[in-house]
Amino acid sequence: MSNRTFTMIKPDAVRNGHIGNILQMINAAGFKIIALKYTQLSTPQAEKFYEVHSERGFFGELTQFMSSGPIVAAILEKENAVADFRTLIGATDPAKADEGTIRKAYATSIGENAVHGSDSDENAAIEGNFFFSGLERF
Ligand code: ATP
Ligand code: MG
Repeated sequence: MSNRTFTMIKPDAVRNGHIGNILQMINAAGFKIIALKYTQLSTPQAEKFYEVHSERGFFGELTQFMSSGPIVAAILEKENAVADFRTLIGATDPAKADEGTIRKAYATSIGENAVHGSDSDENAAIEGNFFFSGLERF
């Protein structure tokens, strides 16, 4: 069981003014913030971050969107962090997301879906290392 995951508040949710509300939902669900950063990905950085999806039809749309404005990146800690955070954010497609999830509340479409959550312990570590040095974790 993992105790850390990685998240981003995506450009749509930042543009729509939802940073505070999403961080509130994350804290209320029992996640502790280990690292936090407000930054913007270049398109090549977004392509690197999402390289596992490079063969998918939506890769260009995804990487353009993810580099279209600032994001909030964070490492989160909680027992069973990866799975519990995926439950908190809800389904990729907000039309299928459960009531009470972040995507149900704040996502607008399958592409612009408000938040990212790591899908495994291994990817949580890789993604956290992509954004944060050891000196930026508390
Ligand atoms: P994330 O990795 O962002 O937490 P996820 O694990 O629920 O989301 P993935 O299958 O990893 O979903 O897809 C990564 C991201 O690519 C999605 O969050 C979404 O922004 C985008 N995406 C996925 N499927 C589509 C699609 N059919 N059309 C457009 N964008 C898509
Ligand atoms: Mg994913």
